[in-house]
Amino acid sequence: MVPNNAMVSEIAAIAKDAGLIDSNWIKCLAIKWKPSGRSYGGRKSGGPWMSINYNEGYLSPDELKICVDNIKWLKPGRRKERFKRYVAKASLGYGVWPEYASFCKDSEIGDYFGTDDRAPLAILLCHEIAHAIDFTPGCLVIAGHKYLFPGRGHSSRWKAIYRLLRNAYVKSGKYNNTTGLPLSDNNYMEVA
Ligand SMILES: [Zn+2]
Repeated sequence: MVPNNAMVSEIAAIAKDAGLIDSNWIKCLAIKWKPSGRSYGGRKSGGPWMSINYNEGYLSPDELKICVDNIKWLKPGRRKERFKRYVAKASLGYGVWPEYASFCKDSEIGDYFGTDDRAPLAILLCHEIAHAIDFTPGCLVIAGHKYLFPGRGHSSRWKAIYRLLRNAYVKSGKYNNTTGLPLSDNNYMEVA
């Protein structure tokens, strides 16, 4: 994939419509696009910030081979079942996008199995934008629940934000029909 500011803009618009952020937040969002490495979302210099590896995608053949090897060595348990699930889905022709083990089995925000190469970046951006929103101080009300404490990793507050964004953008299929305009020049768009 390549840097996709339109996706960022569309996900931010969903967050704004849901009352999670205001238009000023979007203007302040700083993004660093990079071709490799880990992706992050959070806060830097007092504003929302993300560092995104635009080449992240489904598990590669090498990574799937590691799953196959692990199945051989691992004792029975959740980890082994997880690798078995990935190998089984891959053998059916699905791309495998793993989420963190603590919520990988959540049907809305967990592992994703698909065939569309645009999906992983859309999911990654929902995940990291959710972190950047979570780090923004202030009370959030999502689906009738009140969330107070910002910036606590994969907390219930972050999960509620991620769930809202991913359902609205990825599960709905909206990501596959990008019409959003790129973000304004105010945003810091460094491409490494
Ligand atoms: Zn995360």
